[in-house]
Amino acid sequence: MVSVKSDMKSFSGIAASPGIAMGRLRIVDRRRAVVSEYPISSETILHEIGRLVQAIEDTRQELENLRIRLAETTGEDNLFFIETHLMILSDERLSTETTEIIRTGLINAEGALRRTLHRYRETFESIDDPYLRERISDVETVIERILRNMNNETVEPMPQHEGQIIIAAHDISPADMLQINRSNVLAIITEIGGRTSHTAILARALELPAVMGVEGITDLLFDAASVVVDGLSGTVIINPDQDTFQSFLSRKQHYEYVEYELLKTAPLPAVTPDGHSIFLRGNVEIPEEGASVLAHGGSGVGLFRTEIIFMNRTYMPEEEEQFSLYTAMQQAIAPHLLTIRTMDAGGDKLLDGMDLIAEANPALGLRAIRISLGTPEEFKKQLRAILRVSANGPVRVMFPMISGIEEVRAAKKLLDEAKQELTYVRIPYDTEIKVGIMIEIPAAVTIADLLAREVDFFSVGTNDLIQYTLAIDRSNEQLSHLYQPLHPAVLRALRRIVQAAHGAGIQACLCGEMAGDPLYLPILLGLGFDELSMGAGSLLRVKQILRRCTLGRATRIAEGCFVFSTAAEVKSYLQSQITFDVAESID
Ligand code: PEP
Ligand code: MG
Repeated sequence: MVSVKSDMKSFSGIAASPGIAMGRLRIVDRRRAVVSEYPISSETILHEIGRLVQAIEDTRQELENLRIRLAETTGEDNLFFIETHLMILSDERLSTETTEIIRTGLINAEGALRRTLHRYRETFESIDDPYLRERISDVETVIERILRNMNNETVEPMPQHEGQIIIAAHDISPADMLQINRSNVLAIITEIGGRTSHTAILARALELPAVMGVEGITDLLFDAASVVVDGLSGTVIINPDQDTFQSFLSRKQHYEYVEYELLKTAPLPAVTPDGHSIFLRGNVEIPEEGASVLAHGGSGVGLFRTEIIFMNRTYMPEEEEQFSLYTAMQQAIAPHLLTIRTMDAGGDKLLDGMDLIAEANPALGLRAIRISLGTPEEFKKQLRAILRVSANGPVRVMFPMISGIEEVRAAKKLLDEAKQELTYVRIPYDTEIKVGIMIEIPAAVTIADLLAREVDFFSVGTNDLIQYTLAIDRSNEQLSHLYQPLHPAVLRALRRIVQAAHGAGIQACLCGEMAGDPLYLPILLGLGFDELSMGAGSLLRVKQILRRCTLGRATRIAEGCFVFSTAAEVKSYLQSQITFDVAESID
């Protein structure tokens, strides 16, 4: 949506990460190259081959430059993906086969390159190991770069040293997010993506204001315009006039003041006025966030998304590297509990270049525990790394995307094997380590009573649970109005999960984005959740409501919600029950 006043333009999108920023706009082109194939005459064969050779050389140069730039800003550790891409670029087959296709097939260089890619795909498809099979995505990424260079369209890296900028792009992948330099990027705007997409989650983790789902914004805007991004209301203003600028500036100051005041409440316990305590914990992706969870009063980590270590690279991280990462996180939150979730890549969290893999339904495809169980030796590296960390402080392990008992048993069996392997080489670990599963697939809700007998705790992933229960793609901005956490089907699912957990005497935790919205606190508290885990930025607001709402009142509110038959009715009921005070005053 766009409205115009003089040369000021206002857009509204999805408020994906809170905070207000003003700065210079920088549009980053992340769209795919468009390729057309056409016949050529024999006289132009050499010309086409020359274009191919030049584009490969330009791509090599581009990758070398990117390597130097990233080494300065993010350190050598994150550069595996560039090394692999350079290796692919040097593969004899790439240039020889493409040249041959140009020569014998008499087609242009772009068309020939696309045919070479097709041949690579056929080869990769016949590989048994699913992980290696997926590495076709790296070949696709490299070929994409060559194609762009052939048409003088550069693949833009995330800008690194361009002063204080606000990035607007059609899409920013979670892997792109990791390349963002937080010291010069003030906010992001994207045309696609929703509040619970992983890009949005990472934006919140990096405390980067973000507005998503602003359709067509990169076509309408121009670099260097001045822009205001309001990640609280989902507003983007281009070339704000003086009054508008001033009003956003005071809103920004007010928001920052409220944040500052809330921070003073961080040491207060998470307890209701009638003495009922629950755990408020943090969701983290990178060790730097651990400190932020503690600063915001979180008692440890309820969800450590480990897939980040699998991104921006083309092969699985070794056990030692994983061990160091998990240790860094453990040290950042010591002496509190660390809940480590095993890899949950796939879906909208693509490994480098994986987005080019033609999976018709990525959200229903190869992701999370399905990848892990398909690559048991790799999975055990992760499990051994987690077990080793458990020797040095409280750690729980949690499996994502569980749909049935067999998966839990298979994962636990591999955990046992990992334990035995460590015992054999006398490496210590917590023999009593708690094992949990994420409840995020409707099948798991339906058999929650059976699953509860197999594990020590449940953690509800509402982001996916809502997606799969309502059949609403969590990343699709056009459907965001239908993504309803208060849908009666979702509330009934939550009630059933808590009952099943408590019936079996295990803990019911919740770590989806729903946990971080103060409006939902009374329901979640009233339903009986023992732990809520959320982005660090939400902890203080949620605790503020918790400290004002007795368990008795929350139970009545939760029961009251089940009287209504639509999400809208539940929402207005909830709003009538809660006064938000400080938490509300900014919105
Ligand atoms: C969820 O699905 O709610 C969840 C916490 O996991 P993720 O967002 O990483 O899929
Ligand atoms: Mg999930």
